[in-house]
Amino acid sequence: MPTVKDELKLAKSEAAYKEALRLMPGGVNSPVRAFKAVGGTPVFFARGAGAILTDIDGNDYIDYVGSWGPLILGHADERIEAAIGKASAKGTSFGAPTELETHLAELVISRMPSIEMVRFVNSGTEATMSALRLARAATGRDKIIKCAGCYHGHVDSMLVKAGSGALTLGVPSSPGVPKAVAADTLVVPYNDLDAVEAAFRAEPKRIAAMIVEPIAGNMGLVPPQPGYLEGLRAACDRHGALLIFDEVITGFRASSGGAQVLYGVRPDLTCLGKIVGGGLPVGAYGGGADLMTQMSPAGSVYQAGTLSGNPLAMAAGIAMLEALADAEVYSLLELRSRRLADGLIDAAKEAGVATYHTRAASMLCMFFTDGPVIDDAGAARCDTQAYARFFHEMLTRGIYLAPSQFETLFVSVAHTDEHIDRTVAAARLALARVAEERARTNHGR
Ligand code: PLP
Repeated sequence: MPTVKDELKLAKSEAAYKEALRLMPGGVNSPVRAFKAVGGTPVFFARGAGAILTDIDGNDYIDYVGSWGPLILGHADERIEAAIGKASAKGTSFGAPTELETHLAELVISRMPSIEMVRFVNSGTEATMSALRLARAATGRDKIIKCAGCYHGHVDSMLVKAGSGALTLGVPSSPGVPKAVAADTLVVPYNDLDAVEAAFRAEPKRIAAMIVEPIAGNMGLVPPQPGYLEGLRAACDRHGALLIFDEVITGFRASSGGAQVLYGVRPDLTCLGKIVGGGLPVGAYGGGADLMTQMSPAGSVYQAGTLSGNPLAMAAGIAMLEALADAEVYSLLELRSRRLADGLIDAAKEAGVATYHTRAASMLCMFFTDGPVIDDAGAARCDTQAYARFFHEMLTRGIYLAPSQFETLFVSVAHTDEHIDRTVAAARLALARVAEERARTNHGR
């Protein structure tokens, strides 16, 4: 169990980071890991077990990142480990069909009512990229609507952000994204149906699809307002466009059938990732057979992958979905998540720090603002410095949170009541420090 230390000793992580910086851009293979949003040295990990991560200096942490969502069973779950071991003993990749792919496809299709056929890929990004290609091919249209603050992987056309106003033509938010590609992306605020209607009206019969995170998890956690997802379904139907749910985070987490089951809204295409691979690199996209049979080689829309559906990843995904077939998993997650959310709300109140709390199933967020946060503009009002302070205070107390305010906190079945209570106790102390610092800074002004 992690212990509270006055000062976190990270000498080995610091040395490892220095070396990594020399060899890899920013020292990491995915940007958020570099702690840019909170400062300090990224922690290098040696191992994980259940809810606990251990770094290379020997410090333990209660982990709420869970590899950014996949680890709903916790680290090194023995069912997943056994499945991977068994599969790897038979060979790591054949580049040819296996029965494991069909087995995982059956499991996915049985849980998600909108999916009749599925294609496995290697990441969430590949899933969204391919679903967008299919949507464009199926409709014969080029334009896509996305929401500001929703992340759909690093696909060129999705790397655009909104400017001011309800509806903005896409502007690339990364160098290297061609303007012409970005211009086919229309950006609207999350939870704003009027803006979606305006986008459809502005580009009649030119919009192939609206892609959305049914529960937004990349601007902090922002659940859909009542009627929002139903409204998107109706708008897409009215305008002959496809509705794509990006369930890379929410798939098999929001409920056993993802957000689409939780909210009872059926998308045309669903993108999956994270949990579906049991912690190995897997993505997937699926939908009705009429759409999916347009993919090569059944149809003419091309998409391929050397390692797609590889046996290790499929075996891990199967073990994961089989473990999640137990309905008790979701009731347990609900209990633990509620305990944590309630504890954090009380802790913030006690410390007198203005916060806005969101939760959807086992995903939650504490925004450092008095809220409400229903879109990216609301999220942008957060005091990110206060979050950074909170993050480091928690890290020192053995709690590993996402190194950014604009991420989601993930609860796993490996989190016990004791873990949660220790986390809340740490949050009380951390928030008291945030309050002290605020008082000091305000005093100084
Ligand atoms: N879609 C959503 C909603 C995500 O949160 C992510 C990644 O966090 C992606 C797509 C991209 O997935 P990957 O990082 O596996 O490419």
